[in-house]
Amino acid sequence: MRAVPAAAMVCMAAVAAAADPVPIVQDGHLRAVIVLQPDASEQLAEAVAEMQSLIERASGARPEIADAAPQGMVSIHVGRTPAVEALGIDLGDLDGDGFVIEFPDEETIVILGPTDWGTEFGVYEFLERYVGVRWLMPGADGTYVPEMATIEVPADPVRDEPAFFSRKYFGLRLPEQQLWARRNRLHSRIEFHHQLYKLFPHSDVEEHPEFFPIRNGERYFPPKDHYYSGWQPCFTAPGIVGAAVERICAYFDEHPEAESYSLGVTDSGGHCQCERCRALDPGRKNMINRDHLTDRYITWANAVVEGVLQEHPDKWFGFLAYSEIFEPPDRVQMHPRLIMTACSGSIPRRARPARS
Ligand SMILES: [Zn+2]
Repeated sequence: MRAVPAAAMVCMAAVAAAADPVPIVQDGHLRAVIVLQPDASEQLAEAVAEMQSLIERASGARPEIADAAPQGMVSIHVGRTPAVEALGIDLGDLDGDGFVIEFPDEETIVILGPTDWGTEFGVYEFLERYVGVRWLMPGADGTYVPEMATIEVPADPVRDEPAFFSRKYFGLRLPEQQLWARRNRLHSRIEFHHQLYKLFPHSDVEEHPEFFPIRNGERYFPPKDHYYSGWQPCFTAPGIVGAAVERICAYFDEHPEAESYSLGVTDSGGHCQCERCRALDPGRKNMINRDHLTDRYITWANAVVEGVLQEHPDKWFGFLAYSEIFEPPDRVQMHPRLIMTACSGSIPRRARPARS
C-alpha cells in the first residue's frame, strides 16, 4: 500500500468523525419526527406526506409531523421552519430547483431549497438516497421501497441542483405519469406555447391597427371568433417592441413567481408581407419548404427580451421553432435567454420516420 501523507490522514479522520449516522428508525422503532415549515404550501405538504408514507412502507414506523421533536428524538426540518430560519443557512446562488440537506447537530436534519420546488426535490433526494426509494414507473406499482427496519442517515451535507434548467418529458398526460415525472425531478420552467394572439389581443384592432399584418397589399384583421390562429403581428410595426415589453413587464409584476414568458407564434402561419418585414428575410425556403422567416421573428424577439430584462433580469423566454420559423436564423444571433422548443408537428408526414 502506498504511503498516505500525514495531512491527508488527518483530513480523512475529521470527515469520519463528522459522519456519525443520524437515526430515523432503529429496529422498527421511530427515532425521528418531521417538522414542516409553518403555513407550508400544498406542494410541500404533499411531499412531506409522501415522505411519511414511504418511511412507513420501508420500516413499518410512521414518523409524526410535529412542530418540534420530543427530547431525544431527531427532527427532520422540511423548508423554512423557525429553527431553520435561526440557523441562517446560506443557499448562495443555488438554483431554484436545487436544495441542501444539512446536519447542524446530531439531532437535526434540514432539507431546504431556495423555493418550494427545491425543497420538494430535496425530500425526494432524501427518500432515494437514505430510504432506497425508486420511482421506476408511473402508478403505485412502479414505486420500489425496500424493507428497512433501521434507517440511518450519514451526516454528510448534500448540496445539489439540476444540470438542466428546465426538464420536461413530452406526452405525459395522465396524473400518475405527471406525478412520476415530478418525483424524478422533472419541472418544466420555460413557457413556449402559441402566445402572440394573447400578447396582442383583439382590442389592438382598435388601438393599434398598425400591429396587424399586411397580406396581399392590405392590412389583415383576424376575426374575433377565430383570433387565435392564422395570423402573426407585423414584427417591424412602429411601437410593437415597446408594447410587448410593457405588457410582459406588467405580467411579471403581477406574477413575480413566473420564471418565463412564451413568445410562441400564433398557429397556422399568416405572416406579414410588408416591405420592412421582408427586408429582414434571407429570401429562401426552409427545410420544410416554407418561407424562411426566422430572422424577422428573432430580430423582434431579441429586442423584446432585451427590453424586459432591463426590468426583470432573471426571466427567461420560450418559443416554438415551428412552420416559417422552423430553422435557426441566418443573419442574427438568438439572445441566450430565448429558449427554443422544436415542434416536430411542423415536419411533413412524408419526412417523418415510418411507423411499424
Ligand atoms: Zn410587417
